[in-house]
Amino acid sequence: MRLSNKNLVCGISKKDDGSMKLLGNNFDDHVLENRKKFFTQLNIDSKRIVSAGLQHGNNIKIVGQQHAGQFIQNTDGLITNKKNLFLTVTVADCLPIYFYDFKKEVIGIAHAGWQGIVKNIVNKTIQVMTDVYKSGPGNILVYIGPHIQKCHFEIKNEAIKKLNKYSKYFVIKNNKKIFVDLSKIVKEQLLNENVSDNNIEVSRECTYCLNNKYFSYRRDKPKNIKAMIAYIGLK
Ligand SMILES: [Zn+2]
Repeated sequence: MRLSNKNLVCGISKKDDGSMKLLGNNFDDHVLENRKKFFTQLNIDSKRIVSAGLQHGNNIKIVGQQHAGQFIQNTDGLITNKKNLFLTVTVADCLPIYFYDFKKEVIGIAHAGWQGIVKNIVNKTIQVMTDVYKSGPGNILVYIGPHIQKCHFEIKNEAIKKLNKYSKYFVIKNNKKIFVDLSKIVKEQLLNENVSDNNIEVSRECTYCLNNKYFSYRRDKPKNIKAMIAYIGLK
């Protein structure tokens, strides 16, 4: 991905790394073990991870050293300018969106499903970066990681209604089924915030298609959600 710099580390786990999804307040030892193993391989101390609780909203939380190791409820996005702090969200079809202001050395990560996209979490993230850290949108690099793509993301009823203003990104298939290209919507939202087209990169990988590589909630319909972990940090 284009999001690279000597200090910056970011990426996403694979299905082989096991589920990274912490459910409720009862953290599964197995998941904690998967996380520890995954980050150890990356030379990252798992005690330095900050996890967003995720609620399909647009709350963004600024975090600092005191949040290392914490699971922060009621937020879908995290931002910091602190070093050796690794911001994470879990995803299994939703879009992991990575932000990096290379001038001010500010990083962010957001989890966006269709609901977060309707609530424009991207706009909220950029706003916090510009208000709090005086980031210039022109200096922000954005990477949208692997997610469910228009080949598989069918929408119905409420989602159709709420996404209707983005209907130009709908893809209609045979028997009137409606699919949507979520990353195109996010890209439009980013451009509206004056992020430069050249600074936006979108993964073409579909989590639903790549059965051996990624978990997909839509495809697997598991009783307990299994998910990848997306991370970004400054070393
Ligand atoms: Zn697909």
